[in-house]
Amino acid sequence: FDMFFLAFIERLIRPTYRKDDFILGKKLGEGAFGTVYRVSSTKNSSSKKEGDLVLKKASEYGAVEIWMNERVRRACASSCADFVYGFFESSSKKGSEYWLIWRFEGESTLADLMQSKEFPYNVETMILGEVQNLPKGLERENKIIQTIIRQLLFALDGLHSTGIVHRDIKPQNIIFSEGSRTFKIIDLGAAADLRVGINYIPKEFLLDPRYAAPEQYIMSTQTPSAPSAPVATALSPVLWQMNLPDRFDIYSTGLIFLQMAFPGLRTDNGLIQFNRQLKRCDYDLVTWRKTVEPRASADLRKGFELLDLDGGIGWELLTSMVRYKARQRTSAKAALAHPYFNSEGLLALSFRQ
Ligand code: ADP
Ligand code: MG
Repeated sequence: FDMFFLAFIERLIRPTYRKDDFILGKKLGEGAFGTVYRVSSTKNSSSKKEGDLVLKKASEYGAVEIWMNERVRRACASSCADFVYGFFESSSKKGSEYWLIWRFEGESTLADLMQSKEFPYNVETMILGEVQNLPKGLERENKIIQTIIRQLLFALDGLHSTGIVHRDIKPQNIIFSEGSRTFKIIDLGAAADLRVGINYIPKEFLLDPRYAAPEQYIMSTQTPSAPSAPVATALSPVLWQMNLPDRFDIYSTGLIFLQMAFPGLRTDNGLIQFNRQLKRCDYDLVTWRKTVEPRASADLRKGFELLDLDGGIGWELLTSMVRYKARQRTSAKAALAHPYFNSEGLLALSFRQ
């Protein structure tokens, strides 16, 4: 079958929605470019659970977010929250909005889970169900963190292989899907699709400074700006190779890895302070370690100990993700093949990808 024919059929049989089909529930989030609610659908309500959907009412940038979600649904559906439908809604009082609908994946983002004193054991239960009462310890924590990072890299590899860079990877944009018991990426509002040249950053949009890599722009200013027509398809892989824009997401993922290893970096203040220290070390993690380790708190020492397990293989992976130069950072695909993920262990069975 022809791809376009299939897409057309799919469009016909997929449910379509309009404004009046939703009953608004709890507000889940509110940002500069949209508001997110848990919602129920009045359509086919007999077959559906209450509040099983999520609605984002987005500003004009919602058009790009719909594009990205449609693309993900066709190319790498398991990477992101399950997208249902997106449409333009012109009758609202606030002027025109885009409405985006997803399946409600679950109650907690990685940010919520990392706030818990129990982390990472609270995640172990979610991934594995009831866990036998094993003694807590570094090795066990390391296995759980390994699983989370692996699932994250798997989702990112899907996006990057599709040609999409997320640009806003952070624990708040990672949702635990209760259905698949895996972490998925959400919030494609700042994403860029380099294969077709959609690389749109509204000028008001600031990359989250807590997780942003030091390079400010994904495509270097020397390269022509990505054209907005599909003509760019043949050209983009070259630009991709030259600029490695996917490494921006890898840096952010490295910071999440750090936050998981070092509880002190899980708070905003802790992370901001770390970023300041790292900048002073010219973004060199090895230098950072040398400056902080001699007078390290128990918290920091514990983090280094965790990363030093198995001959320091975790530290090795981490330092290959958090580097100043994008081209010196590992890719999601290469990171997944890193020996850090090879060691057999407690959670080996949960590595379902
Ligand atoms: P924002 O632009 O406000 O950051 P997000 O897309 O990140 O919008 O969504 C805001 C919040 O809504 C998320 O942090 C998460 O708590 C919740 N959320 C978004 N999508 C889903 C989903 N598919 N399932 C469950 N919760 C979701
Ligand atoms: Mg968000």
